[in-house]
Amino acid sequence: MSDTIFSKIISREIPADIVYEDEECLAFKDINPQAPMHILIIPKKPIARLADAASADQQMLGLLMLKAAEIAEQQGYGDAFRLVVNNGSGAGQAVFHLHLHILGGRPLSWPPG
Ligand code: 5GP
Repeated sequence: MSDTIFSKIISREIPADIVYEDEECLAFKDINPQAPMHILIIPKKPIARLADAASADQQMLGLLMLKAAEIAEQQGYGDAFRLVVNNGSGAGQAVFHLHLHILGGRPLSWPPG
Protein backbone atom coordinates (compact mmCIF):
# COMPACT_ATOMS: atom_id res chain seq x y z
CA MET A 1 0.00 0.00 0.00
CA SER A 2 1.36 3.42 -0.88
CA ASP A 3 1.87 6.08 1.76
CA THR A 4 -1.20 8.10 2.59
CA ILE A 5 -1.78 11.26 4.56
CA PHE A 6 -2.74 9.05 7.51
CA SER A 7 0.64 7.26 7.46
CA LYS A 8 2.20 10.71 7.71
CA ILE A 9 -0.02 11.54 10.69
CA ILE A 10 1.08 8.30 12.39
CA SER A 11 4.74 9.16 11.79
CA ARG A 12 4.15 12.79 12.86
CA GLU A 13 5.32 14.07 9.46
CA ILE A 14 2.15 16.14 9.41
CA PRO A 15 0.27 17.42 12.47
CA ALA A 16 -3.12 16.30 13.71
CA ASP A 17 -5.25 16.90 16.78
CA ILE A 18 -4.70 13.47 18.35
CA VAL A 19 -7.20 12.35 20.99
CA TYR A 20 -6.04 8.76 21.57
CA GLU A 21 -3.07 6.54 20.75
CA ASP A 22 -1.87 3.07 21.66
CA GLU A 23 0.39 0.49 20.02
CA GLU A 24 -2.24 -0.52 17.47
CA CYS A 25 -4.31 2.53 16.70
CA LEU A 26 -4.47 6.30 16.54
CA ALA A 27 -7.49 8.62 16.78
CA PHE A 28 -7.53 12.27 15.72
CA LYS A 29 -10.02 15.00 14.85
CA ASP A 30 -11.15 15.17 11.22
CA ILE A 31 -9.77 18.23 9.46
CA ASN A 32 -13.18 18.89 7.85
CA PRO A 33 -15.67 17.97 10.58
CA GLN A 34 -19.18 16.95 9.56
CA ALA A 35 -20.49 17.04 13.14
CA PRO A 36 -19.49 18.64 16.46
CA MET A 37 -17.64 15.39 17.17
CA HIS A 38 -15.90 14.01 14.08
CA ILE A 39 -12.95 11.83 14.95
CA LEU A 40 -11.13 9.30 12.80
CA ILE A 41 -9.73 6.15 14.35
CA ILE A 42 -7.20 4.23 12.28
CA PRO A 43 -5.06 1.15 12.72
CA LYS A 44 -1.33 1.78 12.61
CA LYS A 45 -1.14 -1.18 10.26
CA PRO A 46 -1.70 0.31 6.79
CA ILE A 47 -4.71 -1.58 5.45
CA ALA A 48 -6.17 0.28 2.45
CA ARG A 49 -9.84 -0.66 2.82
CA LEU A 50 -11.97 -2.70 5.18
CA ALA A 51 -12.38 -5.15 2.30
CA ASP A 52 -8.61 -5.70 2.37
CA ALA A 53 -8.58 -6.77 6.02
CA ALA A 54 -7.91 -10.44 6.73
CA SER A 55 -8.94 -12.83 9.47
CA ALA A 56 -5.58 -12.07 11.13
CA ASP A 57 -6.89 -8.51 11.59
CA GLN A 58 -9.93 -9.62 13.58
CA GLN A 59 -8.55 -8.56 16.96
CA MET A 60 -7.44 -5.16 15.66
CA LEU A 61 -10.83 -4.52 14.02
CA GLY A 62 -12.57 -5.29 17.29
CA LEU A 63 -10.20 -2.98 19.12
CA LEU A 64 -11.08 -0.11 16.75
CA MET A 65 -14.79 -0.55 17.55
CA LEU A 66 -14.26 -0.72 21.29
CA LYS A 67 -11.91 2.28 21.32
CA ALA A 68 -14.33 4.25 19.14
CA ALA A 69 -17.05 3.77 21.74
CA GLU A 70 -14.66 4.76 24.55
CA ILE A 71 -13.60 7.89 22.66
CA ALA A 72 -17.23 8.88 21.99
CA GLU A 73 -17.90 8.50 25.72
CA GLN A 74 -14.84 10.58 26.61
CA GLN A 75 -15.97 13.30 24.20
CA GLY A 76 -19.38 13.43 25.87
CA TYR A 77 -21.35 11.64 23.17
CA GLY A 78 -21.38 8.10 24.51
CA ASP A 79 -25.17 7.77 24.23
CA ALA A 80 -25.58 8.97 20.63
CA PHE A 81 -22.83 8.51 18.10
CA ARG A 82 -22.40 6.90 14.71
CA LEU A 83 -19.52 4.92 13.21
CA VAL A 84 -19.02 5.08 9.45
CA VAL A 85 -16.59 3.16 7.26
CA ASN A 86 -16.47 4.23 3.61
CA ASN A 87 -15.12 1.29 1.63
CA GLY A 88 -13.95 2.21 -1.87
CA SER A 89 -14.25 5.42 -3.87
CA GLY A 90 -17.80 4.54 -4.90
CA ALA A 91 -18.76 4.71 -1.23
CA GLY A 92 -16.94 7.99 -0.67
CA GLN A 93 -13.56 6.73 0.51
CA ALA A 94 -10.91 9.34 -0.26
CA VAL A 95 -8.02 8.21 1.96
CA PHE A 96 -6.95 4.63 1.35
CA HIS A 97 -5.90 3.80 4.88
CA LEU A 98 -8.72 2.08 6.77
CA HIS A 99 -10.52 4.45 9.15
CA LEU A 100 -13.69 4.64 11.17
CA HIS A 101 -15.47 7.99 11.33
CA ILE A 102 -16.85 8.65 14.82
CA LEU A 103 -19.64 11.21 14.52
CA GLY A 104 -21.84 12.82 17.14
CA GLY A 105 -23.25 16.00 18.57
CA ARG A 106 -26.03 16.64 16.07
CA PRO A 107 -29.10 14.74 14.89
CA LEU A 108 -27.93 11.88 12.65
CA SER A 109 -30.68 11.02 10.20
CA TRP A 110 -31.42 7.64 8.68
CA PRO A 111 -31.01 6.46 5.98
CA PRO A 112 -27.57 8.05 5.59
CA GLY A 113 -26.74 9.84 2.36
P1 5GP B 1 -13.06 9.10 3.66
O1 5GP B 1 -13.79 9.97 2.69
O2 5GP B 1 -11.81 8.48 3.05
O3 5GP B 1 -13.92 8.09 4.35
O4 5GP B 1 -12.60 10.05 4.83
C1 5GP B 1 -11.38 10.71 4.85
C2 5GP B 1 -11.47 11.79 5.91
O5 5GP B 1 -10.16 12.23 6.18
C3 5GP B 1 -12.30 13.00 5.49
O6 5GP B 1 -13.37 13.18 6.40
C4 5GP B 1 -11.29 14.14 5.53
O7 5GP B 1 -11.85 15.34 6.01
C5 5GP B 1 -10.21 13.60 6.45
N1 5GP B 1 -8.89 14.12 6.19
C6 5GP B 1 -8.29 14.19 4.97
N2 5GP B 1 -7.06 14.70 5.11
C7 5GP B 1 -6.87 14.95 6.43
C8 5GP B 1 -5.79 15.47 7.17
O8 5GP B 1 -4.73 15.83 6.65
N3 5GP B 1 -5.96 15.57 8.52
C9 5GP B 1 -7.11 15.19 9.13
N4 5GP B 1 -7.17 15.32 10.47
N5 5GP B 1 -8.17 14.69 8.46
C10 5GP B 1 -8.04 14.57 7.12
